[in-house]
Amino acid sequence: MIRPFDFDGDRFDRSRRIDWLDVNAISQTKVLMVGAGALGNEAGKNLALSGFRNITVVDMDTVAVSNLSRCLFFRESDAADERFKAELVADGINGLAGGRSARAVTAPIEEAASDLFRGSDVVLGCLDNVLARTHVNGQSYRAGKLYVDGGMEGLTGRVMVVRPPDGACLQCGMNKSHAKVASLRFSCTGVETVFHEPRLAAEITTTSVLAAIMVREIAKHTSGRDDLMLSNMLYYDGKQNRMEELEISRNPDCLVHHN
Ligand SMILES: [Zn+2]
Repeated sequence: MIRPFDFDGDRFDRSRRIDWLDVNAISQTKVLMVGAGALGNEAGKNLALSGFRNITVVDMDTVAVSNLSRCLFFRESDAADERFKAELVADGINGLAGGRSARAVTAPIEEAASDLFRGSDVVLGCLDNVLARTHVNGQSYRAGKLYVDGGMEGLTGRVMVVRPPDGACLQCGMNKSHAKVASLRFSCTGVETVFHEPRLAAEITTTSVLAAIMVREIAKHTSGRDDLMLSNMLYYDGKQNRMEELEISRNPDCLVHHN
């Protein structure tokens, strides 16, 4: 039976009622999501349900059993079968979206073509290490693409929005020890240095909060509502239930702006 007002026949009926959200623009936006771990799983779910339909997921890792406490698209058998995280997240997105909306790239982001950045509209950083973050920050900035990066430790985390060509970037806000870690990889000897960062405490509820904020910022930008966005950094403290917006100034000596 056809009802006279079939509000429930449209997957995005409720989304279309939100005045700042442009569902049509969202469906056409090309998202580059780097990292398919805990944040990537949550962000991928949010992208799919928000209506993003052109997503590239980049991650070179395979599933480990320790990922299973935070990743809705991974199963125990995926760890045993050494499945690629990027492929599972892309499959998960496609399942939720009801069609082919995501594709996987199972290479290190440092080796992925810079076309990936130029060919995207926005970049989402779901990474767990400084090296990859620094790389994605630089590539996005040079390609002139909005970059939204998330990071967390235990119950705290932060989301940073990087807007080229004038905004502060991730490296502008890095302290000296971050910069040192980043520089280890690209030392002037030309020899790549392997640096092992310690594993961080991580759990799903903090991951969910941060991934939700990240995808919401991307949705605002895509909907033409930059006026509603973070100016650049949001700090989240799940222990105190506090959020605070911080201002990171553009560092005139930051190398990212001089290349
Ligand atoms: Zn910078």
